[in-house]
Amino acid sequence: MTTSASPQPTDEVVDLCRDLLRIDTTNTGDNDTSAGERRAAEYVAEKLAEVGVDAEIHESAPGRANLVARIPGTEPGRDALLVHGHLDVVPADPDEWSVHPFSGEIRDGYLWGRGAIDMKDFDAMVLAVVRDWQRTGVRPRRDVVLAFTADEEAGSDYGAHFLARNHRGLFDGCTEAIGEVGGFSYSVDDARRLYLIETAEKGIDWLRLHARGRPGHGSMVHDDNAVTALAEAVARIGRHRFPVVMTDTVRAFLAEVGDVLGIEIDPEDPETAIAKLGPIANIIGATIRNTANPTRLAAGYKDNVIPGRATATIDCRSLPGQSEELERQLRELVGPDIAIEYVQRQPALETTFDGDLVEQMSAALRAEDPGAHPVPYMLSGGTDAKAFSQLGIRCFGFAPLRLPADLNFSGLFHGIDERVPLDGLQFGVRVLDRFLRNC
Ligand SMILES: [Zn+2]
Repeated sequence: MTTSASPQPTDEVVDLCRDLLRIDTTNTGDNDTSAGERRAAEYVAEKLAEVGVDAEIHESAPGRANLVARIPGTEPGRDALLVHGHLDVVPADPDEWSVHPFSGEIRDGYLWGRGAIDMKDFDAMVLAVVRDWQRTGVRPRRDVVLAFTADEEAGSDYGAHFLARNHRGLFDGCTEAIGEVGGFSYSVDDARRLYLIETAEKGIDWLRLHARGRPGHGSMVHDDNAVTALAEAVARIGRHRFPVVMTDTVRAFLAEVGDVLGIEIDPEDPETAIAKLGPIANIIGATIRNTANPTRLAAGYKDNVIPGRATATIDCRSLPGQSEELERQLRELVGPDIAIEYVQRQPALETTFDGDLVEQMSAALRAEDPGAHPVPYMLSGGTDAKAFSQLGIRCFGFAPLRLPADLNFSGLFHGIDERVPLDGLQFGVRVLDRFLRNC
């Protein structure tokens, strides 16, 4: 029984998420123009302190705040579980949105705002569950370490990587972790939903191409132009389709999907099967090959001067174990005259879809949704899991959300009118509560 003084976590999660959405934590990738996570971290600290949980805030730079707290378990001999969520969000232009991105508006059964699914929703779920436990005397079996991080949207250098580098003691005993992006549903039909649990994520291989040529006057005959050489290399990369490489995760995902859909999936031709997956086709499609997308170009300073150098940035993502092979393929594509410089290189992650923790995730989903079919999948992007895995922690994406069948979920990430269904948020709290109690 709960009294009126003790709100239900499924109600409280909406208020907590709303409050967090109203705190602008825009991360531009530049400390001078980023809003900083300090206010959000202080809000979380206050909400934890209210129920008797002490938290530490660690700043990596002024305003770039990370919060860590530990909830002691009842079985101290067991390994600890890390539960992590980032507090920063990508920028949002109010002119493009139907509601103000930092107003936390509730409309049509959704809570709207930048960060509603990436990932203040999960931050709020974790807070709602922990606050409820503290008020009602529930304790988890194992230590649960909470980390609310800065800077995930710009590579985590001021966030998870900073914590892993400088405060590894905070994660003592943690062997497994949950965070974004997984645990969300994909409707097969009215009765059945796949829940995609992230067991792998691609590597980040951001590189800069440097072309050099002979500077000169734009009016002359000139056969050694850096801009031309760079443009040719960029076009070759941009148009290249890297070969399909099947990983254990994608193979397991397709096998499960084939089972649930009752179709035979030809492992030699995964693209045909993936194309049938509708809104998640673009997530899964990027996990069967390395990718390389040109994103920035820079050259020249005057219309009639041929510059001596030109640069381009390429956003490459490598499959597990494929980073070196991707580098070899890129060198072949750009040719000997263009230099390649890595500006970010973080390895891909991959773990197996088995063990106690996976069983607990699956059981919690099935208990709250009898039509749940948990499946492993690979994320094409990168998350804070990259940093925490450096500490030897086995990381999963599990931020449970039940979604309406017609919602283009992947399109909402960093998208306009980002929003989370209220009932999905409440479903997430119930699943997370069940999972965290039992794991
Ligand atoms: Zn995120």
